[in-house]
Amino acid sequence: MANEPAVSEATWSHEDLESDLAGALEAGEFFLVYQPTIDLQTNAFAGVEVLIRWRHPQRGVLSPELFISELEMSGQIVPVGRWALSTACAQGAIWHDRGYRFAVSVNISTKQLGSPEFAHDVANALASSRFDPALLVLEFSQESLLGDEAATMRRLAELKTLGVRLAVDDFAPGDTPLADLAKFPIDIVKLDKGFIAGITNSPEAAALIHTLVQLAKALGVQIIASGIEDAEQRKRLAIEEVSIGQGFHFSRPHEAQEIDRYLEDFAIFSGKPL
Ligand code: C2E
Ligand code: MG
Repeated sequence: MANEPAVSEATWSHEDLESDLAGALEAGEFFLVYQPTIDLQTNAFAGVEVLIRWRHPQRGVLSPELFISELEMSGQIVPVGRWALSTACAQGAIWHDRGYRFAVSVNISTKQLGSPEFAHDVANALASSRFDPALLVLEFSQESLLGDEAATMRRLAELKTLGVRLAVDDFAPGDTPLADLAKFPIDIVKLDKGFIAGITNSPEAAALIHTLVQLAKALGVQIIASGIEDAEQRKRLAIEEVSIGQGFHFSRPHEAQEIDRYLEDFAIFSGKPL
């Protein structure tokens, strides 16, 4: 499929990557794809996660795994992340105007959260798109939260005043205890796909999910399982009362126009209003 990242085998020096990336934003080479999230209890369409892609003029469509850390190192992630956030909010507002009401979840890097203008960027993206802040979710890694905790707490509190929701990404039991993360004003915890991959053949992993879901309920945090690849995993997660799921089992990430078609099919197939 055209917008799935190509794995580039050809040699690419660090210097070439750096200089190609330097002009990529201005050249309009980045674009966004959206991966649906589904309510595991009702099968309703719950939202989308926004994922960046780079259409390199010679190398084709590239995965963020090839360039996000380089953007982080050069500091370019701040303008690129600002572009992703405002583009995602504008697209979210288009869907909302058409009568769909679902969450749009954007990945935020450590450098972005640390940048003094970040809350301002979020406020701007919301104001210029008129996207409902209650539908915007910002996803952070555990590492970006656990540096300077006092500063993180201040920044997250500022974001919460905008009315957005905050998520911890790529969480697996055995990482930071959930109760420790819950000292931050977190609304959502996303379970890592590596952990989900093991849940149907490991009784221990299933027991861990059970404990985690109960703890999350007590802490008032929603759990989203990512990387669901088959019906067995989906069934197990639904039994354990995980509320939302995401993964290739439901849909790969797609550009906005394809999500439009997915939404139409989904409404017909499920017979439910979205
Ligand atoms: P992530 O936030 O954990 O995003 C989920 C990744 O898992 C995506 O990879 C998605 O395509 C992939 N995925 C989804 N379902 C499945 C599944 O069922 N099986 C498997 N094996 N993989 C699945 P992608 O798009 O390559 O993104 C990789 C990472 O790059 C993301 O991980 C996120 O950390 C980062 N990223 C993507 N877009 C942005 C962005 O706009 N800003 C920042 N700062 N980071 C981004
Ligand atoms: Mg994510």
